[in-house]
Amino acid sequence: MRETVFDRIIRREIPADIVAETEELLAFRDIRPLAPVHILVIPKRQIVSIDDLTDEDGGLVGRMVLLARDIARDLNISRKGYKLLFRTGRDGGQEVPHLHLHLIGGARLTENIRPVGNGSEAKGG
Ligand code: AMP
Repeated sequence: MRETVFDRIIRREIPADIVAETEELLAFRDIRPLAPVHILVIPKRQIVSIDDLTDEDGGLVGRMVLLARDIARDLNISRKGYKLLFRTGRDGGQEVPHLHLHLIGGARLTENIRPVGNGSEAKGG
């Protein structure tokens, strides 16, 4: 499997602003934040995307979501709310091929989920 920048963050080879860590997960601030709070929760294990999960990974994904919930509480954004986002593959806009959950909040967020261009690509398989 291809190494990504996130593997280097896990190994502490490049710096990151780490906000939480467990045996299997790491959470750190996104380097290009879209909002005042923008954190990525990743598994330390190499998994490319949601599409690469096995049925046995349900617990892992649940723990990713629960860690995001805990971080949101720690950062006092729970009451006003936030977005959790998994981008998956090309059409999903995923850039880094290592599973990650975005926790985005601290401001009122727009809805901007629309097909690129006129959406004609949407019919392709
Ligand atoms: P995605 O488009 O869902 O694959 O998101 C990848 C995210 O990783 C983007 O929001 C990037 O800003 C973020 N990112 C890339 N490199 C780093 C890095 N070295 N440290 C923190 N975040 C990063």
